Amino acid sequence: MTGIQEKYLPVIGLEIHSQLNTNTKAFCGCSAKHNSPPNTNVCPVCLGSPGALPVLNKKAVYLALKAGIALNCRINYKSVFARKNYFYPDLPKGYQITQYETPLCYDGSIEIPVQNNLKKRIGIERIHIEEDAGKSIHEISETETLLDFNRCGIPLIEIVTKPEINSPEEAAVLAKKIRRILTFLNICDGNMEEGSLRFDANISLKHRDKKEQYGKTEIKNLNSFKYLKDALNLEIQRQKYLIESENKIKHNTINYDATNKKIAVLRTKEEEEDYRYFPEPDLIPLTVTKELIAEIKNSIQELPEDKKERFLIQYQIPESKADILTRNKMICEYFENTINLLKIKNTEQFKNTANWIVREVIRELNESISKNIDDFPVKPKHLSSLLDILYTGKINIMTAKEVFRIMIQAKDEKEKDPEYIIKSHNFYQIQDESEIEDIIIGILKVYTEETNKYRSGEHKIEGFLIGKIMKLTEGRANPETVKKILKKIVFEVQSGI
Ligand SMILES: [Zn+2]
Repeated sequence: MTGIQEKYLPVIGLEIHSQLNTNTKAFCGCSAKHNSPPNTNVCPVCLGSPGALPVLNKKAVYLALKAGIALNCRINYKSVFARKNYFYPDLPKGYQITQYETPLCYDGSIEIPVQNNLKKRIGIERIHIEEDAGKSIHEISETETLLDFNRCGIPLIEIVTKPEINSPEEAAVLAKKIRRILTFLNICDGNMEEGSLRFDANISLKHRDKKEQYGKTEIKNLNSFKYLKDALNLEIQRQKYLIESENKIKHNTINYDATNKKIAVLRTKEEEEDYRYFPEPDLIPLTVTKELIAEIKNSIQELPEDKKERFLIQYQIPESKADILTRNKMICEYFENTINLLKIKNTEQFKNTANWIVREVIRELNESISKNIDDFPVKPKHLSSLLDILYTGKINIMTAKEVFRIMIQAKDEKEKDPEYIIKSHNFYQIQDESEIEDIIIGILKVYTEETNKYRSGEHKIEGFLIGKIMKLTEGRANPETVKKILKKIVFEVQSGI
């Protein structure tokens, strides 16, 4: 790989298709929901019946503008829809409504981290609104192709980057960053398995010394960051082989077969003129106002990257945790609301709280059906009281986890209250050290042989004895205190046992 990159510089551009988070389709009132039974979300408009007229979805425009503003684009206050004409069985209209010469957003940029803590700016050529096509299903029958038109007319934005990406790794980092911004701002749900976000990558190689740029190909429909990287790596190898064997690189469309980790040349790519673009006669030009732009700018406030930087400084939490906490806007809010409600506020508790949310809350969330933190049964109010109790040492971490599990299962508000749970289950830690001493002496009398071994230097017995003591106290003793007293009794007191 390095060899290739020394001689040839990959020149990569991405086209990112992302489904906008709207309830209805781009130009009709049909539902935009995933996974509906085939051909149930359709109407004359999205099926392209003669005479049916499209009406633009306002929410789609709002979300597309939001993406444009977040990606530092300039906005065309007047943009035009166009027809892209082509025949395909899953496109019953025979054309796709998109934007061509005058897209909604253009000339943006995004920064990605590169080696040595440096940042690289990648230009965003344009962002335009377009509609999706349907789906051809070949898997059900061996002799027939079935068509599902539910996706026809689903609103998408296509984000087109400038060809300023120079490695498959950079492409994946950029794609991840864009996904994070889109999901953070609720523009797109980011679900790559269901096709809400997919990437096309165009790639060519440039000779580093001769400065010669060779032919370009386009890899279509990649729906994971790994596939994007893998497919680009394979295509770089193929293009290198073609260059070195003096074959011409044709402007082809490439398909990536993830199962067999192979690429296949599909067809010669249509050139722009093949599509016979013309302005969509059924839609007037789209005009947006300065007030709307201002309103959207206001609603964005802090982007994930800025939030992450702030979390690092304000709460001094490790970068890995800040990274996870800023993947989703609602999780950010959950974290900050919990922090704000804590009675004990210091950097140690900020770190502990970040840990708790990453390890316990997000783990639970990933296993739950909804995966949406807004539906999570333990709200910041109750989590912060649980953590306050933990931080004051009234319960230990094991008990706190047990209380947290009970809180998740609890039916009503009262049962969710950690104070109530701890009292009703008698979970409070034994504060009285003499009580712990008595318990330890009792245990040591039962396990005299082990105690003697421990005293004569078999250190591994310690864990066994602490386990027995913790079991007898039902986890209500502080393990550190238990260890301290155990050592004192075994090595210092030595009497009565
Ligand atoms: Zn429809």
